[in-house]
Amino acid sequence: MPPRVLPIVAATATAAVLAMIVTAAVPAVRSPAPRDAPPQTLPDLVAAPEGPWLPPPAAPLPDLPSLRGGTERVGAHFRVVSLPGGADCSAEALAAAESVWPLCRAWFGAPDSVREKPTVWIHWSEASYHEVERALTGGRLARNLAFAHLATRSAHVVLQARIPDEARSAIGLHEVTRRLVAHESVHLARYVTSPNAGKHPQWLADGLALCISDEACRAAGWSVAFAECAVTSTRIAAAQKEARAGELPDFTELLSGETADLGFQSRYGARHLAARMLFDGRTGETVRAYLRARFAEPDGPHWRALFDAGLSDLLTVRTLAAAHSEFPRWVLRFEPRWDDPGLSLDTGRAGRWIQWAGAAGRTAWRIHPARIVTVAGEAEFLSGAECALRFGSPGRPVVTVPLRRPAGAATTRFRVTLDGSRLRATVDGAQTVDVPFDGPASAVGLTAPPECLLAWNGVEFSASAR
Ligand SMILES: [Zn+2]
Repeated sequence: MPPRVLPIVAATATAAVLAMIVTAAVPAVRSPAPRDAPPQTLPDLVAAPEGPWLPPPAAPLPDLPSLRGGTERVGAHFRVVSLPGGADCSAEALAAAESVWPLCRAWFGAPDSVREKPTVWIHWSEASYHEVERALTGGRLARNLAFAHLATRSAHVVLQARIPDEARSAIGLHEVTRRLVAHESVHLARYVTSPNAGKHPQWLADGLALCISDEACRAAGWSVAFAECAVTSTRIAAAQKEARAGELPDFTELLSGETADLGFQSRYGARHLAARMLFDGRTGETVRAYLRARFAEPDGPHWRALFDAGLSDLLTVRTLAAAHSEFPRWVLRFEPRWDDPGLSLDTGRAGRWIQWAGAAGRTAWRIHPARIVTVAGEAEFLSGAECALRFGSPGRPVVTVPLRRPAGAATTRFRVTLDGSRLRATVDGAQTVDVPFDGPASAVGLTAPPECLLAWNGVEFSASAR
């Protein structure tokens, strides 16, 4: 397919004129090519007021049972409330929120301080999250288990996954929860520092949130990040599958927000990949300078059209054409470590495991490829539920170990070992699986119907490469 420029240019008759005004008015970006027409002013472009922009007061949150109580903690830029339902996690969540601010400053010009601190609410149950999500966004973001809301300057994140307090205190806030808190905090940072935040393109809003939270979590040592991390690599793998099937929108389509046909994982993967391409390469600092200038502008009815046209102009047809042809190769150049969408429990932090219950009813430990693995413990789940442990690695059929609750018993005890060449499983004292498994395992998962898994008790887990 021939390269195309951003469709916004074709769609907006006055884009060339607007782009000229934009680039003339923004000193931080490259000076525009000489033009014939003199710069014009538009009626809605008003002079920037003196001093930093002050956001209008946040709309009050609805008075819902799910938002009562909890532990509040206030940092330099954010407020965090760890709602009732489990051990207070406000300190770790606040650290995750605050971790993004230096990058928000560098990437889009968030000022050093903020007058009105936005709030991140940590929910212990999906039911609590759903009550608030329904009231604020009408169920549109029910599946996300995390969202940020412009009018109330609040973000809501479900603590994932449901595991016993004992395990939670051992591993702290899971990687996925830290990432979600960091991701939504980037959205909140835009909301409280940019007068035009409500008009930022969705691909860019999420591109910033994905890239900055990924980088902040890596820098803080909470995650290995991007193609190595279970959360992001799962999405990259999903986007790569779409790319191989010819279903992935191209770079310019992504920049126009054309992601409606993509699934949940591949949509975020594609946005992350497109943003990384824009921000990592030659265009990175130019685009960041552009964002710092434009995000600080007063809002107005033409802000978005001016922004899109200015960005098109900034990137130039040549740059966009190059990006357009390089994007498929860029997408496929990464080697995502994990490729099982929706599942992960990653040993991202040097042998400590991190759990993510991404898809309903599925939970997994994800491990770095290991030839020697032991998982043993006790699972407590509802009678009659079909649960299973699963062992696998890329390119190999998954070995499934069914876990059935014996009649009259409350729990099922299991021990699964991989000794380098065979996988053996014993469930309630009886050997249930004994199969060759020559090669490393990279996924140890559990599947259970939603709400059926009640607890893990005293699970021991070890993995080593040799
Ligand atoms: Zn987002």
